[in-house]
Amino acid sequence: MNQQKIGTQCVQAGYTPGNGEPRQIPIIQSTTFKYDTSEHMGRLFDLEENGYFYTRLQNPTNDMVAAKICALEGGTAAMLTSSGQAANFYAIFNIANCGDHVVASSTIYGGTFNLFQVTMRKMGLDFTFVAPDCSDEELEAAFKPNTKAVFGETIANPALTVLDIERFAAAAHRHGVPLVVDNTFATPVNCRPFEWGADIVTHSTTKYMDGHGAGVGGCIVDSGKFDWFAQADKFPGLTTPDASYHGVTYAEKFGLGGAFITKCTAQLMRDFGSIQSPQNAFLLNLGLESLHVRMPRHCENGLAVARFLKAHPKVSFVTFPSLEGDKYYELAQKYMPNGSCGVVSFGVKGGRSAAEAFMKHLKLAAIETHVADARTCCLHPASATHRQMNDQELIAAGITPDLVRMSCGLEDAEDLIADIAQALDQI
Ligand SMILES: *Cc1c(COP(=O)(O)O)cnc(C)c1O
Repeated sequence: MNQQKIGTQCVQAGYTPGNGEPRQIPIIQSTTFKYDTSEHMGRLFDLEENGYFYTRLQNPTNDMVAAKICALEGGTAAMLTSSGQAANFYAIFNIANCGDHVVASSTIYGGTFNLFQVTMRKMGLDFTFVAPDCSDEELEAAFKPNTKAVFGETIANPALTVLDIERFAAAAHRHGVPLVVDNTFATPVNCRPFEWGADIVTHSTTKYMDGHGAGVGGCIVDSGKFDWFAQADKFPGLTTPDASYHGVTYAEKFGLGGAFITKCTAQLMRDFGSIQSPQNAFLLNLGLESLHVRMPRHCENGLAVARFLKAHPKVSFVTFPSLEGDKYYELAQKYMPNGSCGVVSFGVKGGRSAAEAFMKHLKLAAIETHVADARTCCLHPASATHRQMNDQELIAAGITPDLVRMSCGLEDAEDLIADIAQALDQI
């Protein structure tokens, strides 16, 4: 097959207008869809025929944008969700239910950690967290007979650890379960986890994919490679008849390429309804059209800022996976040779008060609870997202009181560095 390059896919994949049709993806702002006969609608409800009937489950605008992300990741099927949180919840809950267990990386995004450790535990699921750099023995020991999935982030937010996707995929597959990778920070421009053995990819499209801080959203992509029937007893939801759809067996009827996303749409989106609005999907697509042009600039600015900080006498440490000497540099080079992301963490000598003073003096970088935006922004976790913790608790969570997280935007690196330099000078 003649595979298009990623930049061409960012611009064109997912929607090919016919003669005289709109050039831009149309926003289908309709909750419902009209049919000539009840028999036709009945076939849609039985999943006998493709078609739209209600935007709580599916919408054509969303599907065009999902098809683009599917092409970017090299998957077989994809769906948009209302947020990254919804994407990760659906991706896990589609295969792991009450009484099941999941192995997850301990450095995952705080929102996902909370979703797993608090909310999904209340639903009867069990989780074991392992460090992304744990030993093979520790990883092996995390599995239980009821384990149904392994979960990690290509680049963790905000820990900036890099997942050894091949190693985690091999462990998952040895135990007959899929590897789910949240690829939000790397984006498919910098890393395509399916090429390294991952089975399902999720995204918070809120970040680089949208890229302009305009809309919250998520996406789930299936590689179509995981053989549910080879582990039929572990995944009855995919390999036995669904009574709510006239006894359809998803893996049989929709094949390995379509089963996961069809089940996720037909059951979870139907029942929870965390769909992305078609308006937001349209905005997301505008972001995707330039993702391949923006990502190199975010990475370039991240590296320039990281190098400047590393050499600065008032900076205690710098964490950036593409920076020479970083703990995860080799893994980043392997999985993301063209760049990782634009997010840099560093410490300001003098602790909590020095970090706060530094941020107060910044002029270009705005203080925000956000990352991966066109505009540079920064956050002091100790006084914002983690402010309920004392210094000891912070250190246990891997966050030092002096840590600043900076998300480098698309501005000129010289201006960003000048801004950081003047703010450091004033403390
Ligand atoms: C932001 C983020 C999420 C959550 O996404 P929302 O769109 O905010 O719901 C999940 N995973 C990662 C890696 C994130 O950065």
